[in-house]
Amino acid sequence: MNRTGIVKDERYLDHVMDPGHPESPERLRVIYKMLEEPEMKNLLNLIPPRPATREELELVHAPPYIDQVAKTAGKPYYRLDMDTSTCAKSYETALLATGGLLELIKAVMEEKLQNGFALVRPPGHHAERDRAMGFCLFNNVAIGALYAIKQFSIDRVLIVDWDVHHGNGTQNTFYEDPRVLYISTHRYGYFYPGTGSAKEVGKGKGLGFTVNIPLSTRAGDAEYGMIFETLIKPIALEYRPQLVLISAGFDTHSDDPLGGMEVTEKGFARMTRILMDVAESTAQGRLAITLEGGYDVTAQGRSVKAVLKELAHASTFNEKDQLEQEKTLLPRLEGFILQIKEIQKPYWKSL
Ligand SMILES: [Zn+2]
Repeated sequence: MNRTGIVKDERYLDHVMDPGHPESPERLRVIYKMLEEPEMKNLLNLIPPRPATREELELVHAPPYIDQVAKTAGKPYYRLDMDTSTCAKSYETALLATGGLLELIKAVMEEKLQNGFALVRPPGHHAERDRAMGFCLFNNVAIGALYAIKQFSIDRVLIVDWDVHHGNGTQNTFYEDPRVLYISTHRYGYFYPGTGSAKEVGKGKGLGFTVNIPLSTRAGDAEYGMIFETLIKPIALEYRPQLVLISAGFDTHSDDPLGGMEVTEKGFARMTRILMDVAESTAQGRLAITLEGGYDVTAQGRSVKAVLKELAHASTFNEKDQLEQEKTLLPRLEGFILQIKEIQKPYWKSL
């Protein structure tokens, strides 16, 4: 039986920022077109989105900030941040983006579906409690985690963020909160947003529940595969999440104009598979993905397709070749992996 869902809605194309802005409606147009391909049709269940409620937004955001975004409704142009602006429809679109992910999480938690992908925009992981940042208005994934905790009485949610940028907003939301383990791989060093050092590990009750894996440029499928297998998987299994969420950015793709990384469709498929294994081991397979960045629209379309095929167990990708490649990398990456392990060892016995 077909148990993978997608959130897809033409209204997500209504949010338009400055002319030529990389976070454009074209990103979703290409993905939605891909969904019409014969091999993708009938593979996925459509989940209709709804707008997030004020109460749901307040799980993460400060009321004056929500008011500020709400007031942009109907105005042709408003600048919220250096690189984030709104049009008349942006507020409504942002509510639907968050609400779309919440509907997906609900379907997964109620076991109507096994897993799924919210193909929504604007993205969310840079959005802070009280301000928009980096093309993000509301922090979809952070709201999603708190919604699941509250609505379904769970207390361990894993968020893995493989966008090339560090998810500062998500990290800050949960920095002192052990109910969410935030693990991020990202480019680090003179790169936006500047946060995400390996030494940022959480604070207070949240100490040890933030795992940052900062990377130099040009990390590709083998590097990511090895990091996911030898660092992320053991920590995640030890945490025993009851729900797995992914902030999926495809600006880590080798064709991306902003990212500087070298991941391909195969790499994204492999990362998905590893996180599906985690979800199957500890969370009855419950996994929900939300779209973050990704600015080469064609490469992103192909990558989303690869991820969806993994979710629906329709993948033809053979991980053997990649495992061979990873072995040859071992000596080069070993030192780096050991460094991260040293930092995380006080919190995770399995390291
Ligand atoms: Zn990004």
